[in-house]
Parts: sequence; C-alpha cells; structure tokens
Amino acid sequence: MAVEPDLTPDAPSEVQTELLTFRADLVESYRQVTESGDEVEAEELRAEIATVDEELRQLGMRGRLPSIDLPTKKAVKRSTKRRQDSPNLPTRKVSKTTVGREYAGAYRPSMFVTLTCDTYGKVRGDGAPADPGTYDYRRAARDAVHFSALIDRWYQNMRRVVGFDAQYFATVEPQKRAAPHLHTAIRGSISHEVIRMVTAATYHQVWWPNHDRVVYVDRMPLWDMGKRVFVDPETREALTSWDDAVDQVEDPAHVVTFGAQVHSKGILGGTAESGRHIGYLTKYLTKSTGEVVEATSARQADHHDRLHAELSVTPCSPRCAVWLLYGIEPKGANGKMTPGHCKGRAHRRSTLGLPGRRVLVSRKWSGKTLVDHKADRKAFVRQALAVVGIEKPEPDMSRLLWRKVESNDPQVPPRAHLVMRAIAERITWKAEYDRALLAAAGPPGGQETSAIPEAA
Ligand SMILES: [Zn+2]
Repeated sequence: MAVEPDLTPDAPSEVQTELLTFRADLVESYRQVTESGDEVEAEELRAEIATVDEELRQLGMRGRLPSIDLPTKKAVKRSTKRRQDSPNLPTRKVSKTTVGREYAGAYRPSMFVTLTCDTYGKVRGDGAPADPGTYDYRRAARDAVHFSALIDRWYQNMRRVVGFDAQYFATVEPQKRAAPHLHTAIRGSISHEVIRMVTAATYHQVWWPNHDRVVYVDRMPLWDMGKRVFVDPETREALTSWDDAVDQVEDPAHVVTFGAQVHSKGILGGTAESGRHIGYLTKYLTKSTGEVVEATSARQADHHDRLHAELSVTPCSPRCAVWLLYGIEPKGANGKMTPGHCKGRAHRRSTLGLPGRRVLVSRKWSGKTLVDHKADRKAFVRQALAVVGIEKPEPDMSRLLWRKVESNDPQVPPRAHLVMRAIAERITWKAEYDRALLAAAGPPGGQETSAIPEAA
C-alpha cells in the first residue's frame, strides 16, 4: 500500500451535538444534587442521562461516554521507571504516517518478523524438554498467559522508536515446545538492528498479587451467603479482597520478556518471497489451536500434561477463580464460583495457554474499517446479482425508528412465523446468488471467463 488510508470519522451531526450538550448539562446538575445529598433527584437525573446515552448510540455514536460520577478513589500509582536490567530505548515523536519510506522511487519494503518466548530449559527435536525436572514450567505458563500483553508493548515501543504509526498483520502460533510465538508483517522498512534492540528492551510487568505459593489444596475457601464473600474453611474469616491485595503489591508478580531468538527480513510486495511469507502467516489459520498443539509421542504428551498442570494454577485475569487457591478473592467474586475452576481458555488442556485471539491486525492495516469490509462484501454480491438481472435497491432506513419489541405488543407476529420467514428469505437469497455464480462461470465446458470483477 502506497497511499495513506483516510479514516477520518464523519463529522457529528447537529442533533448529535445538541444531545451531547444536553447530556453535559444533565451531568452538571447531577453532580450538584449528589453533592447536596438529594438521592431522589439524583436517581431521576441518572435515568434521564441513560436515555440520552441510548439515543446517542442509536445515532451511531461510538466509544465510551464519560462517567457521570467523579472519580473518588485515586488510581494506584505504579513506578514508570524502567527496570535496571532493560536497555534504554531511543525514541522519536510518532508521526501520523503509516506506510513507511519509499526507496529508489519505487521500492517500499515491508518487514517480516518472528518473535519467540524465552527459553525455559533445553528441548529435544520434538519440543519435549531434555530434562522435565528442571524445565521452568511456571515461567512457561505465565509467559503464555501474558504473551498478548507483551506483544502490545512491543508494537508500542516499535512505533516510538521508528517514528511512524507502523501497521501490522500478525498471527500467534504454538512452537513445538508449545510456547506461543509471533509471526508478523509490518508495513515499512525497519532495520534489523532496531528490531533486535526493541525486542530486547520490551517487557511487560504483571502488577498482580504474588501467586507463587498455593494456600488451599484440599480444603477450599467457602462462600459465605450472609457476608457475600469467600471465607477460610477453618477460621471463617474473609479472604483478602482483590482490591486490597492489589494495593499491597510492591513488585510485579511476573515479568514477561521475549527470547533472544529474533528473526527479521525485509520483503518487497508482489515477489515470490512475499507470497511465501504470507503463507507462513496464514499457515495454521484454518486449523483450531487444539489441532496445532497435538502431541505425537508419549514424551510430548507428558510435556503437555505438565504444562497444563501449571496453567491450572496460573490465574488468567483478575476475575479468575484460580485466585481463591492463593487465598485471594478474585474481582467480582460470587457464590457460583468454584475455587480453582475457571472457564478461561488459558487453562484448557487443548490449547495450552495460547490466546484465543490468534490474528492481530492493526486498525490501519488495510485502510478499511469493519463497516467498509461489510459494505465491500455487500457491493460484491449486489453487483453479481445485477449481472443476471436481479436488482436489489438499498432500502431507505433513514425514516425508520428502531425500538425493542414489548412482550405484549399485539402487532408482533408469532416467533415461529418470524423464524420461518427469515429462513425463506435466506433460501431465496441463496438461490439468486447461485444463479449469479452459475451465470458468471459460463456454460459448462466453455471458456472460463468471469463476469464478476475481482473482489476488492
Ligand atoms: Zn482463569
């Protein structure tokens, strides 16, 4: 891509601006009455603001609206000092460009980079550790859980250092040792030295309570229905709450870094080499993670078992039920929680901590938003249909008002009718589209010419 994508959002309409002003006024009076302690009035204003928010959403407003309550508790201060053992990064101001530099008038190379996790001990050719007794399963498990956060930091650092808003397409795949690694294409040319430096300097600190020693093994914490907290099974005393535990944190519970192995390569678009590298990026995408990390030998299966055992006691988020094993009540704990049982995919035997989000794409990679991609697909189908004489004009939605159906509305057709109609409609669409595809393919045995232009 050689031209900067235009992603300027539409300017707010008059109605939107008016509503936002109205909302600001409401929030102002809400804060006044809360100050004076008028609970009833405050409740009414809160409801009013909620209606306005909903109206704004209907008008297509995106993003989070500011909270109506003033922040009461100060955010916990974190040391932003860089750790002593990490090299310093040179920084430049990030400019808004995303496409990278052009060389010799026509060449605009991109980078293909592979990043791995650190070593946890020597492994054999099949990925199983040479000595499972000394292999660092704890670090392997924690690194896997926090790998995505580390990647985010890496892209941030990279943008700071190269000085442009570098765009990327990346996939996270398991290595033979079942540790995640990252393949990424980055638009623009970056020197190997810079990539090596940024990788060495990037780390992610996990500011969670320490979780090195499991406290509850046989007897688990119990849910106290009256106090609505988890308590110790013997003393019946409440466990440390998440907020209190975080307040006491002085050192990060874990620090994730990349391994020393960094592979980077400059690639020109449209060459055979670029095709091969795109192949690496998409190689596993059609397989589920479970298929990718399948063990083929007893040694590998044993390795996966050990890693899974460690992942079972590695908390995956502040809301993870695994925290209870460490005597800490997770955020948002409730009576339905079973200590140690979290449904998060980090703990599953089939995926071994690999992230659910395996494809990472930066927002300006293709210069298109999700809405654009949807419109593209729609336009493609409409064009195909037009070729065989089926016209599908865009219905005028601007005069329609959307609202939720009340359960007692007599005008609403029965659910079964609605479902049947939707199915019938889909069948018609499918038949129409099949006709268009057949027409585009031409008569059987004839010359293969396509009436449908290439999809964008
Ligand atoms: Zn979890």
